[in-house]
Amino acid sequence: MIGAGAVLAAPTNLFAQKSVRVGSGPYPTEGMAGYSETGPLKPLKFQRRALGPKDIAIKIHYCGVCHSDIHTIHGDWGTVQYPLIVGHELAGEVVAVGSSVSKFNVGARVGVGTMVDSCRHCPECIRGAENYCENGNTQTYGSKDRDGSITQGGYSTFVVVDEDFVLSIPASINLAEAGPLLCAGITTYSPLRHWSIAPGKKVAIAGLGGLGHLAVQFATKMGADVTVITTSLEKKEDARRFGTKGVLINKDGADWSKYKRSFDFILDTIPYQHDLDRFLPILKRDATICRVGVGKLTTPNQYGQMITVLNRTALAGSNTGGIRETQDMLDFCALQDIRPQITRIPMSGINDAWSKVVAKQARYRFVMDMAMKG
Ligand SMILES: [Zn+2]
Ligand SMILES: [Zn+2]
Repeated sequence: MIGAGAVLAAPTNLFAQKSVRVGSGPYPTEGMAGYSETGPLKPLKFQRRALGPKDIAIKIHYCGVCHSDIHTIHGDWGTVQYPLIVGHELAGEVVAVGSSVSKFNVGARVGVGTMVDSCRHCPECIRGAENYCENGNTQTYGSKDRDGSITQGGYSTFVVVDEDFVLSIPASINLAEAGPLLCAGITTYSPLRHWSIAPGKKVAIAGLGGLGHLAVQFATKMGADVTVITTSLEKKEDARRFGTKGVLINKDGADWSKYKRSFDFILDTIPYQHDLDRFLPILKRDATICRVGVGKLTTPNQYGQMITVLNRTALAGSNTGGIRETQDMLDFCALQDIRPQITRIPMSGINDAWSKVVAKQARYRFVMDMAMKG
């Protein structure tokens, strides 16, 4: 089942208008959906649900392209129900609000990240960590929604979301650049805050992609001394532009002995299996390497435990951030002028963009622009 209703042909003028004011829905919506693990994404028309009292209807102007989108459709993280529209870096404009909505008005610039609901009563939700909801939150795509339907993501023209899961985009942030902050941004910001990154800390960011290029900027603005670990020698200059002091090239046979026990924290953003034994020795005693990139579940990372014993180091993971922390991150970006480097693509360009992400050719985030003609 897709959304709340049947597939409908949308009135085309609705999507052509720059700014629309619409009724209480349901909302005819167009998107690009995966229909199988291996085939291309293709158009899908469906309806977003009519507004509930606390719902907001958002006309999506932009949606970032995250590696998780690709992993999900390819079945790397388990089976999914097709057709499925992915995308969890949405930015747009409020076009209608439900009767009890108090946080947003029509016309507000808003965003939606990786989740659209949670149980709201478990200890994690109560402390604002909806991303760790004990009862499982409702993800922006591929999750069972409250009406039993499967949530459809942001590679689409409209979305209806409870206001408690909507972010306010600060005025100084370009709307096209807001989306990538809502997954890539919060996914890297949250662990850097949790592990108290601050002046005096030596931090390594492994992987300089969509997540890594934001992580470098966050850690630098938090005052840390930042080194990038990358397989791509040609990214060296970019790494310096984002604020890093050092660059370690990650390749077989690389000699990192002079970096032994150098780092207070490593944020590992690499979204596939790789050699963790190369990273563990460069952590200081008691330091942590935190993974935020996850590859195929069927090919998990192996690592030798001896080095963690000898140096009392920790291997950790982190999953996005709560709604309050995501708003903090947006405000931090506005204050510190932290911006993703993006390439805009039309909806029809998504299959080409995915190929480039997989081939590590993204610099650094593709953003689907719903108004752009293909
Ligand atoms: Zn993501
Ligand atoms: Zn909960």
